[in-house]
Amino acid sequence: MKDINIPASRFSTNSRVVFFTGAGISAESGISTFRDIDGYWSKYDPTKLASPQGFDEDPDLVLQWYAARRKKIKKARPNKAHLAISDFQKLFTDSMVITQNVDGLHWQAGNAPVLELHGNIHREKCFTCGRPGSEVASTKGAKSYCTCGGLMRPNVVWFGESLAMSTLSDAFEATRQCDIFFTIGTSALIYPAAQLPYEARNTGAFVIEVNPEETPFSEAADLSVRGKAGEILPKIFREFNAAIS
Ligand SMILES: [Zn+2]
Repeated sequence: MKDINIPASRFSTNSRVVFFTGAGISAESGISTFRDIDGYWSKYDPTKLASPQGFDEDPDLVLQWYAARRKKIKKARPNKAHLAISDFQKLFTDSMVITQNVDGLHWQAGNAPVLELHGNIHREKCFTCGRPGSEVASTKGAKSYCTCGGLMRPNVVWFGESLAMSTLSDAFEATRQCDIFFTIGTSALIYPAAQLPYEARNTGAFVIEVNPEETPFSEAADLSVRGKAGEILPKIFREFNAAIS
């Protein structure tokens, strides 16, 4: 691979950094995207398994699907890309991860803080009053109930639902204030999250895209690198580390 040219000396350890991640970084840990479900569950419509209407119609089906998904996710481990972000976060202490993934792998890798735009599959919340619950206890998709009597559901954003306003506004705030913005393993297609790299660019951040394929954002990035995040991010980290630590 060619050298990656980064004007790293323009930055210091005080530079503020945002890592915006999508399904691609989880795929490198073996977590398939929602759209590539195989086996037993492939006969179901994803919008039934992950929508308020679907849950209303058949909560048992939805809870069992999430239990199966969680079981798969629990076997996955953070990969070299997650670990590179931890290295970056030691170098740039004012940094944040904004993720569209719900698997919790960033936390597991020690990345912090992490804003989870789409929630976290390991947690639950009340379907009726929205009260957040604890970590999901049942591994079989058994029903559990809120103190209000409502059914608990996975604490993730479903089809037809909006992202939490406060989380989204924190994400935009951090993006507007950062000096370096990474967009990693995301196709840059789903709004409003897809707006974040543009927002970073428009407010003066140096924007680095790492993705196996070109995306609609690639042209607008200051640097766009094709490849696996687990291979590219450690290289970019070494560039920064050599120039500014
Ligand atoms: Zn409730």
